[in-house]
This record gives sequence, structure tokens and C-alpha cells, in this order.
Amino acid sequence: MRADVVVVGAGPAGAVMARRLVEAGADVLLLESGEHAASPRAGLLDVGPGSRVVSRHRARLGETELELPRGRTLGGSGAVNGGYCTPARPRDLEAWGPDWPRRYATGLARAAERLRPGLAPMGPVAARVAAAFPGRVAAIAQARRGGRRVTAFDAWDPPGAGVRVRTGAHVTRVRWARGVVGGRCDGVVLAGPGGDDDEEIAAREVILCAGSIGSAAVLRASGLGPGTGHPVGDRVQEHPEVLLDVPGGVVGGLSTAPAGAADTSAGGGDAAAGGDALPPLLSHVIRLEVPGGGAHRPEVEVRPYAAAMHRLIPGAAPGPLRIGIALMNPVGHGRIAADGTVWLPDDPHDAAVLTTAAGIVAERLWPDGAGAGAGADRPLPSTSQHLSGSARIGEVVDEAGRVLGVAGLRVADASVFPVLPRCGPYYSVLAVAEALAAEVIAERPW
Ligand SMILES: Cc1cc2nc3c(=O)[nH]c(=O)nc-3n(C[C@H](O)[C@H](O)[C@H](O)COP(=O)(O)OP(=O)(O)OC[C@H]3O[C@@H](n4cnc5c(N)ncnc54)[C@H](O)[C@@H]3O)c2cc1C
Repeated sequence: MRADVVVVGAGPAGAVMARRLVEAGADVLLLESGEHAASPRAGLLDVGPGSRVVSRHRARLGETELELPRGRTLGGSGAVNGGYCTPARPRDLEAWGPDWPRRYATGLARAAERLRPGLAPMGPVAARVAAAFPGRVAAIAQARRGGRRVTAFDAWDPPGAGVRVRTGAHVTRVRWARGVVGGRCDGVVLAGPGGDDDEEIAAREVILCAGSIGSAAVLRASGLGPGTGHPVGDRVQEHPEVLLDVPGGVVGGLSTAPAGAADTSAGGGDAAAGGDALPPLLSHVIRLEVPGGGAHRPEVEVRPYAAAMHRLIPGAAPGPLRIGIALMNPVGHGRIAADGTVWLPDDPHDAAVLTTAAGIVAERLWPDGAGAGAGADRPLPSTSQHLSGSARIGEVVDEAGRVLGVAGLRVADASVFPVLPRCGPYYSVLAVAEALAAEVIAERPW
């Protein structure tokens, strides 16, 4: 089997890239590890224990061991994520290089045309939190239409444009012409049913869109890493988040029962049941600068989640309604170790900023002390699931996504972000994939 271009991973970046290249006349093969289709039900985060549409990755957050779920299906993590779409601000892109504000804006305009995310009404939890911070609330758009989630795979529709799509196709590594590692990439190797290398597929160009964890794994398994001058998996970025429990019945006197989802039992959620759309996890956020950060001016995003997580994640353990507080310009970095473990950033300065922010939020929400049970003095550490930067532009790839010093191999997903913008990465992944697709098309390697 062969193709002009093999795109690895049918997540947001892969769907954009495959569509744009086939429109420009390439014969494109899109390979996706996942075999099962994700539910199109809006609001559902199918990342719970029984999910068949995620891969799970070992991670550490300080002393705590955890697993990071990533979408493993057509649409990638965009088929299981919160679906909130916020663009980067121009200032965030200055650090990417002088041309990026323009390239990003063009890519974002193309992405907006296809995805057409829309605003959702403000639910009671968001309304209560917004009222505590006058003038700070921002509406965020959702990748959904009514009860239906719209993934990038739906919106860019690669097969509809003529892309050959293969599911259940897990790429273990790229193939090197004449076996010279780091020379010319001339295809990919797929895993067989037992996990061993099986089939080989030839291509003029291979474009990795397997996500921050997946693309780093393929690069490393192909022999690229510190030894070849490619700092793969080094200094990854995340938006560290802490969670405040909403003590029963004290969100402005409102019930803390799930917004919009039937409260079927104390323990069970209804996330897996059919029926109406679930509420968007987030419809609005509150952006705050936290005092005391000096020149760094730490900025947090307060996330009034619309419902307790077990209402939206099938099989998740019951828990209270929570408010998230995420640091959007952290100083800490993490890494993806050679064994694949993701060491999430765990920086004491960032942790201190988040504890300060949690205190501010609790004080504003419950000035009468009713939030004593919220845990603001020791908020629960968590992660936004926004990992990026495992193959950064300028260090592992160039401005066009080409792996430095290597022919025939590019990366075009969240891995390439030089700096994580102060927003969820989903919309930016789409904008960047559009921008990088334009570069590939300009060169037309097919
Ligand atoms: C639970 C969750 C919630 C999130 N919520 C939000 C949100 O609300 N807003 C926001 O902005 N961001 C959110 N994010 C982050 C956002 O979804 C990701 O940044 C984005 O999906 C990354 O896109 P990507 O194309 O880089 O990779 P991915 O979405 O991870 O897609 C990669 C694809 O490649 C496939 N793949 C991986 N390895 C291989 C291989 N070796 N061979 C073949 N195929 C492979 C995978 O199966 C997957 O389909 C969330 C993420 C998660 C996990």
C-alpha cells in the first residue's frame, strides 16, 4: 500500500490536514488507531472507566499517580472533550515568532468557517460565579449543535473530500529510506494484531497528528530524541488546575444538583443514558489576574462547571459539584519520560498562585464563610487535559512543521505549540493545523 501523504491520527489536527491536502490534489491516507465510533451526544465526556474510545496514559502529578485519557477514535480527543473553543490572544502568539499572529488568524478564520462553534446560555452555576466577579465573565463557544457534538472529523469530513481513512491502524514508527535513522522518512510501520510491527505503508510525506503524547511516542520509537538533537517530550506545558468543592446548597442558595441532567440517584449519573443533550461542561469562564506574581502577572481561568463530573462522564465515581481554577500562564514545565510516563508540571510557584486564587474565589463566593467545606486552603490538584509542546516549533520542527534535519516527516498537532496560549488548546490546534496545511500545500511534495 502507498500514498502521497500518510497522516497519522484522525483527531482535530489530522482531520484538518487530511482534508486540506486532498483538496489540493494529494492522494491522502489517514490512519487512526481507534476502532470504535464515539457517541455524538453533546456534553458527554466518554472518558470514564469503561470507555472504548480512549487510550490511557500513565502520568504523575507530584506524588500522585494518575491516568490521562486521550480520545482514540475518529475526532480524537475532540470526540470526548469539553468542546469549548476559545482562540488565543495575539499577545500569546508573539512568543511563537513574528509571522504567527497572522498565520494563526488566517488559520482560525478557516477553522471557524468549518466548525462554527456557538455560544450556550449561562446556567445557574456560571451565573452565580459571574455575579461574584462583575465585569470579568467571558462567554465561550461550544463545538456542538443542539444535542449533537460536532467534531473536527464531522466538520472537515475527510472521507467526503476523498481521503482514504483506515481505523484500527496503529502506527508504531516511521520507516527510514535505506534504514538510515533521521535521514529520509519514506513511510510508516503499523502494529499487527499482537502489537508487533506488521504492515508497512510507503509515502512521500508522513505527517504526525497523533497528539502531544502520541506524536512524541512515534518520534521516539522511530529513533528521534535527544541523541539526534530533537528534544522530544521535553518541557511540555499544561494549564494546572485546582478544584473547589461546592458545599451542598450554597451556590447562591441554588441546589447543587446537576444543571440540566436528571438526578436519577445519589450515586449514579445519567451520563451514559440516552435522551436530551447534556449541558455544556462550561459555557462561561471568569478571567482574573492574581496579585503577587510580580512582572509575571499570573492569570487564572475560573471554571464554573455546569454539573458534577459523574453526570457527564459515564462510570465516573460520584463526586460533588466543583469549580475549577486553572493557571493559564504557568511557569512550570513537565516532560514525557522515555517510558511514556507523563510528568505533569508541578511547580511550587504555580501551586502557590493557585492556592491564592482559590482563596480569592472562595471568599468572593461565600463571604459569610458558608464555603468552609470548599477546601480553599488545600484545593484539590488536577489538570486541564491541555498538554502541548512535546515537539515544539524551533526545537523539534521548523515553522512549516518539518522535523528538523529530516526529510519527508512533519508534525502538525498540539505537540508543536512553542508556548501554550492562555486558552483551551482545541481551537488553536485547528488554527495551527490549517496554517501548517497551507505550508505543505505550498510545497506540494506529491
Ligand atoms: C477529556 C478532555 C477534555 C478536553 N476538553 C477541552 C476543551 O473543552 N477545550 C479545549 O480547548 N481543549 C480540550 N481538551 C484538549 C483538546 O481536546 C486537545 O488539545 C486536542 O484534541 C488535541 O488535538 P490533537 O489533534 O493534537 O490530538 P488528539 O485529539 O489527541 O488526536 C490524536 C489522534 O491520533 C490518534 N493516534 C494517536 N497515536 C496514534 C498512532 N500511533 N497511530 C495512529 N493513530 C494514533 C488518536 O487515537 C487520536 O484519534 C480536552 C482534552 C481531553 C482529553
